[in-house]
Amino acid sequence: DLTKRTPLIAGNWKMNLDHLQAVAFVQKLHWALKDAKHEFDTVDVSVFPPFTDLRSVQTLIDADKIPFGLGAQDLSVHDSGAYTGEVSGAFLKRLDVASVIIGHSERREYHSEGDDVVAAKTKAALKHGLVPVICVGETAEDLETHGASAVPVGQLETALDGVASSAEIVVAYEPVWAIGSGQAATPEQAQEVCAKLRQVVAAKLGDDAAARTRVLYGGSVKAANIASFMRQPDVDGALVGGASLLVDEFAAIVRFQ
Ligand code: PGA
Repeated sequence: DLTKRTPLIAGNWKMNLDHLQAVAFVQKLHWALKDAKHEFDTVDVSVFPPFTDLRSVQTLIDADKIPFGLGAQDLSVHDSGAYTGEVSGAFLKRLDVASVIIGHSERREYHSEGDDVVAAKTKAALKHGLVPVICVGETAEDLETHGASAVPVGQLETALDGVASSAEIVVAYEPVWAIGSGQAATPEQAQEVCAKLRQVVAAKLGDDAAARTRVLYGGSVKAANIASFMRQPDVDGALVGGASLLVDEFAAIVRFQ
């Protein structure tokens, strides 16, 4: 199957775990997955710690050859300069950070990041060789008025404006009402929206890009429901928040097969 995509399980730590806790956590997670070595051929695992943890985690995974990808939770639209408090994609790349979450609903809500900012950050990530993990999703109100897919489809269309067809991106469908609520979307809804998001990738970047791009589901993913999402043909993995902070739970999600 030419369209076979390696599943990606991504842990979004949000503002949790300082750099000392992060090192201890990654060591424990590696240990919990040690006997699952062969599984790293069939699933990619990435962690997205806070900025202040990145150097410590990068040093650890490099020294101990831990097969986890390293990602950041945000980046600046700028490369450098007078932007107090911002972190550039160039700096992340220098730290061997491979990917960056963009447009998480918490950034959209608490930092007023609109689709234009998300589009600019997507371009900034690609410019610096980082894989943007573009988050889209409807609020409970959107769901009621427009159905599940209209808002995330529109968000992704804007984010992909002007992106090259060769770009490596990841798309994360995260219904806002499902994040941190314990109320995950149904696997059927996740499939329906993820399939539509893949069509957006096809329309914007072409069929090859659509076939290779991983589309994740996120929102109250846990060990007990991961398999039901992974059975969906257009769901290629999960963006996991709360459960990514629990070693055994996250390890169980990685071993979903
Ligand atoms: P949750 O968060 O798994 O805690 O619902 C997901 C996310 O915000 O990425």
